[in-house]
Amino acid sequence: MDVKNFRTLLLDKKQELEQQMAQIEKDSHQRNTPEVQDGVDLATASEERSSAWGQATREWSVYTQVRNALARIDQGSFGDCLDCGRAIEPGRLEAVPWAAYCLKDQEKREQAERLAGGPNI
Ligand SMILES: [Zn+2]
Repeated sequence: MDVKNFRTLLLDKKQELEQQMAQIEKDSHQRNTPEVQDGVDLATASEERSSAWGQATREWSVYTQVRNALARIDQGSFGDCLDCGRAIEPGRLEAVPWAAYCLKDQEKREQAERLAGGPNI
C-alpha cells in the first residue's frame, strides 16, 4: 500500500480542519459580544452558535480520527481494522483515509450507535 500518499492526504486534511476550527473559534468570539439586545436577534445568535458548535464537534471528531490515522502510519499499522485486524478495503481508505475500521465493523458500530440512541463520540 502507498502509505506515503495517504500521509500526504491526511496531513492536508489535518491542516484544512485546523484552519476551519480556528475560523469557527474566531466567529464564535465575535458572536459572543452582541451589540443589539433584541429578542429575535438573540434567538438567532444562539441558534447560530449551536449550529457552529455542532459543526465544530463534527470537525473535532474527524480531526481526532485524522491524527489517530497519522499515528498508525508511524506505528506501521495503518490500514488495519482496529476491531478485527484485517486490512481495511482499499476503496474505503481512498474515500476515507482516516477510516479505522473495515466496512463490516464500521456498520456494526453504526448499528450499535443507533441502538444506543445516537452517535457516541
Ligand atoms: Zn474489521
